Amino acid sequence: MTETVLAVLNQPSRDAAPHDPAADAFTFEAPLDHQVQVQDLGITRGDGVFETITVVDGRPQALEAHLARFGRSAAKLDLPAPDTDAWRRAIEAACAELDPVREAFVKTVLTRGVEGTDRPTGWVYAAASGDSTAARTEGIAVVTLDRGYRHDVERTSPWLLQGAKTLSYGVNMAALREAARRGADDALFLSTDGYVLEGTRANLVMSVGGRLVTPRTDIGILDGTTQADVFRFAEAEGIETAYELITREDLRAADALWLVSSVRQAAPIRSVDGEPQAMDLALTEQINDFLLARES
Ligand code: PLP
Repeated sequence: MTETVLAVLNQPSRDAAPHDPAADAFTFEAPLDHQVQVQDLGITRGDGVFETITVVDGRPQALEAHLARFGRSAAKLDLPAPDTDAWRRAIEAACAELDPVREAFVKTVLTRGVEGTDRPTGWVYAAASGDSTAARTEGIAVVTLDRGYRHDVERTSPWLLQGAKTLSYGVNMAALREAARRGADDALFLSTDGYVLEGTRANLVMSVGGRLVTPRTDIGILDGTTQADVFRFAEAEGIETAYELITREDLRAADALWLVSSVRQAAPIRSVDGEPQAMDLALTEQINDFLLARES
């Protein structure tokens, strides 16, 4: 057992040669800071994809949905297809190796590999999560920021990779710093043509007229695994759900808003651009109880 776990995949994709033909599918490695090569395109160009998976009491949550999205992101970048079985085994092994803790996370990373080798690099990293209690129970302040793309960017300009979970999160982190400069906890991206997109690392869910509504997933945003499970919760509770185009104005009519994501789960939004937003803390608690109790 250990506080952090690193499993390095020997053959992240069956479409490319293994790093060592004689080695196992993955090996645990230490120390953490001696692993990645300086010429890895994941480091030098952000050319790769990742997933962050919540682990509760040792159980990775929404694992199959994360693995499926990992494959879709890789395909969008023309990366070799991740070997799902090898990744699943490495994730499960990393979870088993981690010190017992209520909430942890596993990060899977697949890069194009060291320049010139034609062999992707893959690793799984696991560690305890930070405490999200304040965000879940007191809410977060968000500001809206223009992402600079229209809502149809994924169709018009697929090379911009919107909707893929790439390693190029410099923009998302810059948006987070801009949110902090404006006194908020997070940012909510808008398209140039006025539609609500997603948070820097989360999807928006809105409660309005007794329904739960989230932005359509074909508008250059990630199809969230947490959002999908929030909708599963809603459907089990008899709450109607919908994927729609949502405008900034629609947010003002909402009964409650959340940013939902792995690790932080459902964080109720208490203000948008400084305007107070009503929260439904009872429903939030129910949603988070459901999310944390997921068996898979
Ligand atoms: N949107 C973005 C940009 C993200 O980075 C994330 C998660 O990191 C999400 C949405 C939410 O996805 P998930 O619920 O699968 O964690």
